[in-house]
Amino acid sequence: MAKQLAYFKGGIVPLEEANINIMCHGFNYGTGCFEGIRAYWNPEQEELFVLFLEEHYKRMFKSAKILFMEVPHSLDELVTITMDLVKACEYRQDIYIRPTLYKEDPIVGVRLHNLKDAFHIYVAPMGEYVDTARGLKCGVSSWRRIDDTMIPARAKVIGGYINSALAKTEAYHRGFDEAIFLNADGHVCEGSAENVFIVRENTLVTPGLYDNILEGVTRRAIMELAERELGLETECRPIDRTELMVADEMMLCGTGAQIAWVSSVDSRLVGDGKEGPITRKIRSLYYDAVRGNLPQYSHWVKPVYGTRRGAAPAGSAAVSPA
Ligand code: PMP
Repeated sequence: MAKQLAYFKGGIVPLEEANINIMCHGFNYGTGCFEGIRAYWNPEQEELFVLFLEEHYKRMFKSAKILFMEVPHSLDELVTITMDLVKACEYRQDIYIRPTLYKEDPIVGVRLHNLKDAFHIYVAPMGEYVDTARGLKCGVSSWRRIDDTMIPARAKVIGGYINSALAKTEAYHRGFDEAIFLNADGHVCEGSAENVFIVRENTLVTPGLYDNILEGVTRRAIMELAERELGLETECRPIDRTELMVADEMMLCGTGAQIAWVSSVDSRLVGDGKEGPITRKIRSLYYDAVRGNLPQYSHWVKPVYGTRRGAAPAGSAAVSPA
């Protein structure tokens, strides 16, 4: 039986003891940033693999910089703390890890300066976030993505997720599975919690970093897989809304969503409405790699228990230099 634990105020505690004050600044104003990290259970290897741990924390350092916040640990310490927490929870299933850095002071007043920061991590079981086996029906949202001049989307800011929540709920009320944002320029941006790829004439295309997207870790992984395994370079360029309608294939990707194929956009089938060959190949490689089944991608994952690797403690196994 797994244990529900959290890293809170510098130590590992039972989840029910990890509580914040209702006057906490981060809760009242959304002043904080977070990461979402997955770990995959591999039943054959009896091992839990944490995916892209350092990459997520590197992004948290960038979010923190934008928000005038200090992550209270080095990258190595964060890796050790997270691996130790996950190991202590004893999960033998797929899980989600949520580190959050936020303004802690119980103070009324909107600002980022002269406020104390706090950091915690919780861990929870997680299955599918969206149904990745079935094609997703997507609708272009009437909500535009927050612009870099408003709330920077490249920072994973707590308060910014109201933008995503409005679009996701609108999509739900319209009978779609997921929303696609356009940015302020009217170009395709991303989903409510996923980056977007399309395939046109055997070319993989995704919006660029200047398009107000979150700089997705899974997005980079797909680009790596496409190049190394399929010999496909990704074109990063502005995408028009109607290009989604005439694309041969389309997929959404993110830590939570993983890789989901899209069957229709705005009630038009994508391609013939079936999963396309490039998406299928990338999806299958990704699902093998994240569960630790592809040796050439072992650098993506960190084993928690070390069952087959001499059972080193989780934290020390994690801080390997490469
Ligand atoms: N865009 C948004 C708005 C997201 O919330 C996420 C999920 N973190 C993504 C894209 C995908 O990012 P990643 O692959 O790093 O999880």
